[in-house]
Amino acid sequence: MWITRVGQELARGMEVRAGFEEQLERFFDLLEQSVTTGDPAWMDAILLDWAKSSTETDLEEGLYHVSFLLNRMIALTIQIAREVLTKQQAIDLLAAVIPIYTYGLGVVARYEMETRVAHISNEMEKVQKQMVRVDKSKSAFISVAAHELKTPITLIEGYASMMDDLMQQGKAVNLESLLAGMATGIDRLRAIVDDMIDVSMIDNDLLKLNYQPMQVSQMVEAIYLEIEPIIHNRKLNMEIKDFEGSKQWLSIDAARMMQALRNVINNAIKFTPDGGKLTIDGRILPGFVEVIIADTGIGISAEDQAGIFEKFGQLGRVDLHSSGKTKFKGGGPGLGLPIAKGILEAHGGSIWVESAGYDEKNCPGSTFHILIPVRTESPDPGMTKLFDKLDKKPTETPAAESDLKTDA
Ligand code: ADP
Repeated sequence: MWITRVGQELARGMEVRAGFEEQLERFFDLLEQSVTTGDPAWMDAILLDWAKSSTETDLEEGLYHVSFLLNRMIALTIQIAREVLTKQQAIDLLAAVIPIYTYGLGVVARYEMETRVAHISNEMEKVQKQMVRVDKSKSAFISVAAHELKTPITLIEGYASMMDDLMQQGKAVNLESLLAGMATGIDRLRAIVDDMIDVSMIDNDLLKLNYQPMQVSQMVEAIYLEIEPIIHNRKLNMEIKDFEGSKQWLSIDAARMMQALRNVINNAIKFTPDGGKLTIDGRILPGFVEVIIADTGIGISAEDQAGIFEKFGQLGRVDLHSSGKTKFKGGGPGLGLPIAKGILEAHGGSIWVESAGYDEKNCPGSTFHILIPVRTESPDPGMTKLFDKLDKKPTETPAAESDLKTDA
């Protein structure tokens, strides 16, 4: 009777009832055995079986099903005893089983707590490891940042002292070239500081995007104009393909997206030896335009492929810090790719890399994939209107034309 009642109450409506009743029979037999022998340890096996059947996730989240079950069983046992036994029988029965239940609760609670404590210490260990990593990257950052900032400062100092010397000696000073040298150093300083500000904005979710219509081909052309002299200088061969999707109107923050593309293209230049090849290709995918930037450079090892998108991901390679924006292997502060990733993710896109490995001799190359979402609707309603107009040819749709006039 106890088995049927407890089974009905605790497994109400559950398909597991048949199996559960079997378990209750086993529990009942062991309970009887414990009462007869006066040794509650008979319960250990079944209690541990039950406790272990709770998923680890439940226990980790503090869901103690077995303790709850035992508590309900105690309450039901008392209720049944009151209903079907005489007062004295009920008192005798409860006096015999309550200590065993109490013992059972202790066993289960200990197991459940141990699992939870193990989980928490595991979590703490992870946090601790993370803190050690953060601490390491903090001090590595200070040394790299100091180095990165020092190089342009030294450059500016050099030109200033040269100017000073020439003036002291009363010699003719070619102000133009000296100032140009200083300006290079100042530009480099500004670029580093700007990158640092961008990273901190991305980290703090403060990157504000100004959506406007733009095509990949327009951005690539604009970047090409900037880098043309460098491509020429480094004797690189650059192929820009006219892929399907390159003329698709996208609703993006064009300046930010160009910054992301520029960072990837500049890296392709930096890590490809003179005479190498850069290819910009892409394709249209459902909901996205994919831009593929491939180079025939030194490649990236499998271990480094995930790390390079993290802040200061290439910190281990201080050898690369030559502070050059486009020089072969001229490493920077390691912020370019994290910024590109932050910009793409802010747009709802993504970036990843493929490379057969790092090999300066055989140059396996690297291929960066960039997914830019094609928004059907721009977050800014004004932009949505503009988009509609861009997608229609004004000559074929006079209505759209009159819209334009009204808006103007
Ligand atoms: P930075 O260029 O300032 O060092 P990035 O975040 O732009 O920082 O790049 C991080 C690192 O990833 C680089 O230092 C380099 O080791 C590696 N990397 C990036 N792009 C390429 C590429 N096209 N080929 C080989 N290595 C690359």
